[in-house]
Formats: sequence, C-alpha cells, structure tokens
Amino acid sequence: MKTSADILQLAMEQAVQAAAQAEYPFGAAIVKEGRIICAEGSGAAENEPDPTAHSEVNAIRKAAKILGTANLSGCTLVSSCEPCHLCFGAMYYAGIRTLVTASSIKQMETIGWKWPEKDLATHPETYKTVNIALTEGLLHNEVMAMYRQHPQARITNNESRVTI
Ligand SMILES: [Zn+2]
Repeated sequence: MKTSADILQLAMEQAVQAAAQAEYPFGAAIVKEGRIICAEGSGAAENEPDPTAHSEVNAIRKAAKILGTANLSGCTLVSSCEPCHLCFGAMYYAGIRTLVTASSIKQMETIGWKWPEKDLATHPETYKTVNIALTEGLLHNEVMAMYRQHPQARITNNESRVTI
C-alpha cells in the first residue's frame, strides 16, 4: 500500500509536469481505501481555456468519472498545496472530508506567492468548522523547493484579470 508521502510525491510530479507546460505548478491526487484513483496537474485538457482547471478540481472531476459518482465521500484529497477557495469548495461539495497537503497558502506567501483572494484564504478554523481532517506539512521541504524552482512570476497568465 502506498503511503501518504508516496501519493504526495505523485501529486508533486503532476505539479512539475504542469509547470513544464507553463501551467500553475500544482498537483493533486484522489485516494479511496488505499487505492489511488487518479492524479492530476493544473491546466485544461488539450489547452482549452478553463479558469477552473486547478489540479484539485481536475482530480475531483476525474475521480468522479472513474468512480461513476459525484459523491466522493470516503476519498482523500492529496494536494501539493493547500486548496484555494475554488478547490476547497469542490472538495467540500464532493463530500471529501480528508485532506493531505504539503504546504499552506501562508507558507507559500513566505516565498513570494500571492493569492488574489488572499483575504478569503482558507483558515485552519474553517477545516475544523466543516469537519475536514487536515494533515499538512508532509514532504514540506521537497514541495517548497519545487515551488522555489517554479516561482509564480514565471507563470505567464498570472497577471490576467477580467476587466469589464
Ligand atoms: Zn484551486
């Protein structure tokens, strides 16, 4: 059986692959009862524009397809970084209540990453409020080293904003 660290390593490999394709360097995997259902990186299939193509959302969508249900209760989300609000919401509404992550949004900010929705950043209390079991810090040094190699500034669409 794979350990959480093994699965997080798999998520990290997805993040590195995404970075190689000029996507955000994030990766995520879904596990159920010790079985890896899927592992996905950021970015839309075949370069279709999709602002929701975050690694966690991609993994949740694929796991639902593989398992044939939108109810992913009993699954664990393993992510290279703490999920953003979009991904947190997807995880919550899919019924996933166990999260394993290497780095928090706050830790990412210490190496220069910025989240546009910083004020809405998920707080540790939120996980408790909605009964999500959080394990963080696994492979932290390895993941932070990866994020230092793939700084946010190198992501080409980082500055894109919708103006109306
Ligand atoms: Zn996200």
